[in-house]
Amino acid sequence: MEKDTNFNEWYNDIVEKAGLSDKRYPIKGMNVWTPYGWKIMRQIDTFIRRELDGTGHDEVCFPLLIPETEFKKEKEHIKGFDSEVYWVTHAGLNELDVRLVVRPTSETAMYPMFSLWVRSHTDLPLKVYQIVNTFRYETKQTRSFIRVREIHFFESHTCHVSEEDAQSQVEEDFGILERLSKELCLPYSLLMRTEWDKFPGAHYTVGLDTAMPNGRMLQIGSIHHYRTNFSIPYNITYENEAGEHVHAHQTTYGMSERLVGAIIGVHGDDKGLVLPPPVAPIQAVIIPIISKGNADVVMEEARKIEKKLNEARIRVKLDDRDERPGSKFFDWEIKGVPLRLEIGTRDIEKEAVSFVRRDDGGKGTIATGSIVEGVRLILGVIRKDMYDRAWEKQRSNVATITSLKDLPEKTLRFGWCGSEECGHRFEDENELKLLGTPYEHEEFDGTCIICGKHTNKAAYASRSM
Ligand code: ZN
Repeated sequence: MEKDTNFNEWYNDIVEKAGLSDKRYPIKGMNVWTPYGWKIMRQIDTFIRRELDGTGHDEVCFPLLIPETEFKKEKEHIKGFDSEVYWVTHAGLNELDVRLVVRPTSETAMYPMFSLWVRSHTDLPLKVYQIVNTFRYETKQTRSFIRVREIHFFESHTCHVSEEDAQSQVEEDFGILERLSKELCLPYSLLMRTEWDKFPGAHYTVGLDTAMPNGRMLQIGSIHHYRTNFSIPYNITYENEAGEHVHAHQTTYGMSERLVGAIIGVHGDDKGLVLPPPVAPIQAVIIPIISKGNADVVMEEARKIEKKLNEARIRVKLDDRDERPGSKFFDWEIKGVPLRLEIGTRDIEKEAVSFVRRDDGGKGTIATGSIVEGVRLILGVIRKDMYDRAWEKQRSNVATITSLKDLPEKTLRFGWCGSEECGHRFEDENELKLLGTPYEHEEFDGTCIICGKHTNKAAYASRSM
């Protein structure tokens, strides 16, 4: 399994060997979450719930089906999704009068209800989210977690009294993203999507992109400011203090199971998965090193350590299978368990436990008396190191270019005058995707890579995943 020479093959191999998902389900692009993969996703969902609950959002759960009549109210939105939605046309033996869309995202499910819920300025801000599956008919080649037709997804939707208030929601979302990034050890760039690539119906879209080892950017989520683009067709109004009825300003923030794909791609190596400790279903695995006559003593010690770690709520597993230690090491390396603890006769004599880090192979010992503190400390160091290394990679993946010849396999940064004409020409002639311009101000002084006009705007592009 060589990550650097053939990323795509390596990726598929890891997903299968680590037991993350099973794509043999008889609908292409709709995969089965197998236990190990689902446990990782559940950890991520737990962080998301904690963050959204902690910032005043309420969890809801909307129906899966949306009537065509509601789905078509926002003109740009329907144009954007027309080619990739699934339809329900029959109920039992009867053809439906109004067809139903299987949600590709939930704006058009939620907003008719928001128009009933929002009455007065005292009802605002309204902040809700849900963690559900959405459905999109992908026509490109499907790939586990990265391009699937049934997508595990979280989406938060908010309504505000003004554009400024909605803007502060976007800022709050960036804070949530920053904290999530620390837990998942995932770096990202904030790029303002182009007019033709923004979410259908949005005022603007900020794409959250993470660099994959093949130099391509993977969109791991997006944040949208809608202004009143949806509240007008869906009639979401509130009565202000002067007694006037005013349209609410709205935002959304969404991320999906692609986070799992990004974790695999950013951190994995030739031996397999490398999981950040906060999301690892097993944070530490104990391998007893059995030799002649020591089995009872070693197993007793191993169980003692397991119990201590368990009680401290560290996710631990004692591998007591009747196999050679070497083959156990191999199995847990594929699964990306952050920390391996080894207990043999010599360790017991020294009242210590040997450890090996999955991320960088670092080794050492922890005194048995302070095993909980020791393991916690090392898991913390692993998380921090993985986070720092991933950001370093993200930064070094960017190449600033002034010519379109001999393009490196990296994320490209270049001058763009901002015109749609140059943007389209850039994409069409180079088979690249224009990811957008930096959301936060970035110094740039150069010329448009297409028309040659002077510009202070940098743009980013990469091949599509
Ligand atoms: Zn130009």
